Formats: sequence, C-alpha cells, structure tokens
Amino acid sequence: MAKYSTGSGGGSAGGSCELCGAAGDTQTAEVAGATLDLCADCAQNHGESDQGPSGSDSPDDQERKRRAAQNTAKMQDSQSVDGSHWEDGADYDADQLPYLVSDYGSRVTEARQAEGLQTGELATELDLTEDDVLAVEQGRAVQANVKGSTIAAIEKFLDIELADSR
Ligand SMILES: [Zn+2]
Repeated sequence: MAKYSTGSGGGSAGGSCELCGAAGDTQTAEVAGATLDLCADCAQNHGESDQGPSGSDSPDDQERKRRAAQNTAKMQDSQSVDGSHWEDGADYDADQLPYLVSDYGSRVTEARQAEGLQTGELATELDLTEDDVLAVEQGRAVQANVKGSTIAAIEKFLDIELADSR
C-alpha cells in the first residue's frame, strides 16, 4: 500500500504536505512533473491541476505548449546536427551511402583488377559479400543498399575515391 493516501478526502490518517509540511488533508498535485501530496494552499500555488484561480492554463493548453517547445528543440537539434553531421552525427547516419561519383563502378573494377583480385577475393579481403562488391562495380550500390562503410572499406583498400563530396 502506498505511504500516502492518493484519493482526495480519504480522511483516514491524513498526511502532511510535501512542500510546506503542514499536517492535515492533502491532495495529489503535479509539480514540475512530479506527483506530490500537497495541502490545499500549496496545491493551489504550485499545482498544475485546474484548481488554480487563473484557470487560463488548462491541461490542453499546457500540453500544446509543451509539444511546441519540444518541436522547436527538435528542429534546432537537427539543424545543429546537419552542420557537422559526418564526423559526430548519429550512428545510423554514419553508415549511409555517400553521394558517389558517376563512374564509381568502373573505378572499383579497374582498381581491383590492377591489384590482380577477383571480386570474390576482394570481398574476402574486406569481409564483405561478393554481392556487395558486384553491386558496387555494376553501379547498383544504391539499389542494393550497400552501406557507406562498405564503400569506405573499398576506397581505403584500393586507395581510390568513390564519394563525390567535393
Ligand atoms: Zn503545503
């Protein structure tokens, strides 16, 4: 059983106000997101229930304001992320396929052949599937959902540039 009676007018032992400590009947009220047992005075002064004298801040209004504030914060977040997203962006962004140069497929094929490797051998070297390598060489990286990290591994291993970020 809860320490405090949560129903209004329980009237059994009575409680004490969690803000001012006054003994007597308490009522639950939301204060800054916490549910507290308050005396009538504190509930009126601090509570976010509809007992306030103003009556202008209905729960609906508060919810709307809160959401508006969250939306604003989100927009600011994504803007700041966009500014420097490649280095310290979210994890799932880091593996996105970069914008690739138009002839990335043939660049990979030529560089691989220059190394004397088959597609399967290159895949093994990079711990990729041969399908990934073939998809890249055939210019199907986007359609085949090849990961950004796969492109990066191929670039690094073959010492070529495939991302067209410049
Ligand atoms: Zn009080």
